[in-house]
Amino acid sequence: MSAATPSTPVPYGGSGVKYCQRCGAPNDPGAAYCANCGEVNFRSVRPGRIERPVGVTLLALLQILVSIATIFIGLFATALLIFIPFLPILGLFFVGLGVIELILAVALFSGRNWARILNIIFAVLWLIHFPLGTVMGILFLIYFTRPGVVAYFKQPH
Ligand SMILES: [Zn+2]
Repeated sequence: MSAATPSTPVPYGGSGVKYCQRCGAPNDPGAAYCANCGEVNFRSVRPGRIERPVGVTLLALLQILVSIATIFIGLFATALLIFIPFLPILGLFFVGLGVIELILAVALFSGRNWARILNIIFAVLWLIHFPLGTVMGILFLIYFTRPGVVAYFKQPH
């Protein structure tokens, strides 16, 4: 890696832009740090594949476990209440809810940006559930809008 002094901007790759090696954003050749995430490491080419952040992996796995549990609880309730009017429908509702949760969790795990956006929407909805929901909502909002996390979801798949 060549060391460039700030006074003499290097024409990166001749294209006029240089790429942040953390988030992949193209930056002005004279930029001292990335306008998107603040990183100082630049090269003339885009960075390779951005790895899934550990927090995303843990959250997605947790959501997969919860969704599978929801499906089983729903199936169990449906089987248990099959002869009682209306209650099996409630059980099937939980099965459906679990299936939707599972699809979302797998999408988050595989880095789909719409799954990140849905998690942000849910975080906003949690904010009204003071105090625990508010705290969780704020933490989720901060995490899912961090430049490094956003960069992982916004890279092409
Ligand atoms: Zn950056």
